[in-house]
Amino acid sequence: MQRITILGATGSIGVSTLDVLARHPGQYRVHALSAHERVDALAAQCRVFLPQRAVVGTPEAAARLRDLLAGLPIDVAHGEAALCEIASSPETDTVMAAIVGAAGLAPTLAAARAGKKVLLANKEALVMSGQLFMDAVKEHKATLLPIDSEHNAIFQSLPGTYGRSPDAAGVAKILLTASGGPFLNRAVETLEAVTPEEACKHPNWSMGRKISVDSATMMNKGLEVIEAHWLFGAPADRIEVVIHPQSVIHSMVSYVDGSVLAQLGNPDMRTPIAHALAYPERIASGVEQLDLTQWAALQFHKPDFDRFPCLALAFDALRAGGTAPALLNAANEIAVQAFLERRIGFRAIDLVVRRVMDENPHGAASSIEAVMAQDARARAAAERIVHAL
Ligand code: NAD
Ligand code: MG
Repeated sequence: MQRITILGATGSIGVSTLDVLARHPGQYRVHALSAHERVDALAAQCRVFLPQRAVVGTPEAAARLRDLLAGLPIDVAHGEAALCEIASSPETDTVMAAIVGAAGLAPTLAAARAGKKVLLANKEALVMSGQLFMDAVKEHKATLLPIDSEHNAIFQSLPGTYGRSPDAAGVAKILLTASGGPFLNRAVETLEAVTPEEACKHPNWSMGRKISVDSATMMNKGLEVIEAHWLFGAPADRIEVVIHPQSVIHSMVSYVDGSVLAQLGNPDMRTPIAHALAYPERIASGVEQLDLTQWAALQFHKPDFDRFPCLALAFDALRAGGTAPALLNAANEIAVQAFLERRIGFRAIDLVVRRVMDENPHGAASSIEAVMAQDARARAAAERIVHAL
């Protein structure tokens, strides 16, 4: 019986994870669930999955959850220390890291340091502190399995013995596919006027609001380039972004002998989630089998960096190294939030990120404290820029 903690259980990934788990009650048991604000949704999940522990964001939310769960043997707590506890508890084997944004860093790192099997959806944690995170995984013999569909596809297309060295495995390039999001073909001059609702309406995937906006700016793909760099040990010039609007191929690995291996499937996160949960075995996920005959054509083309400046900014941050990706991530989180709150326009997102990157020198990512200090500095700088726009 695999015991599981889900960080961010009420989100899009959390709900999909519980959907897969519910199909295999004999194989998995939920140890703990967390949510930030959606107490009612978490209470409903707790009644079905009966975890031992549930964690929320604030004391008020915890009090409400205790009321809602009165009579059930579920320990309720709140805050970051409690998240780290449920991520590192001896009573859990596997941690689904599905909190959105920098808030997921501390508990995800706690899971790695406790040597857990970490199913990583929270790409921002790896973007912020890639070297430190990968070092912790190695030192504490944690198992890191990517949930992001592209990275899960790359993982599946690499040899089982892959040791984070492209050359040793004969890998020429990692081909990261991107749908291009909702604005792939929209006239660039009309982008300033798009609303949060339009930006969140992804053509192929149903996701949380932050990642949906990131998909519309293609910052999501930029974060994924950095994520791929850390997961697979590939330098920036060995990672290529390929626009593939149908999202049937989830990414590819191109080998020196001319072979290209890919993973295909319907765009549904339950496939990578089931893959990582059962790895190296396979379990049913509830996702329909892909029927390629239903597709008239699969298209591929190069990304337009003028239309998607965030993608170029992310490549720049990866090449700059150190805390530059942490600055990029923090500035982006603030800018996306401001866009969702209608405080800035869509095209101001890349402008805020660029200015934060230009005006704040990055340093060495030598410790989590150093990364968090840069994160805080970038957030404050981004807020100031947003305010002045
Ligand atoms: P979401 O917004 O739907 O859910 C986020 C979850 O995190 C919720 O449970 C929320 O309660 C929790 N949360 C939010 N802020 C928090 C905070 N400050 N402290 C603690 N918990 C907090 O997001 P999502 O779409 O499920 O994405 C989650 C992560 O997975 C993101 O990092 C995203 O990039 C990644 N991801 C998502 C998808 C997808 O299809 N949704 C695909 C690939 C990667
Ligand atoms: Mg992805």
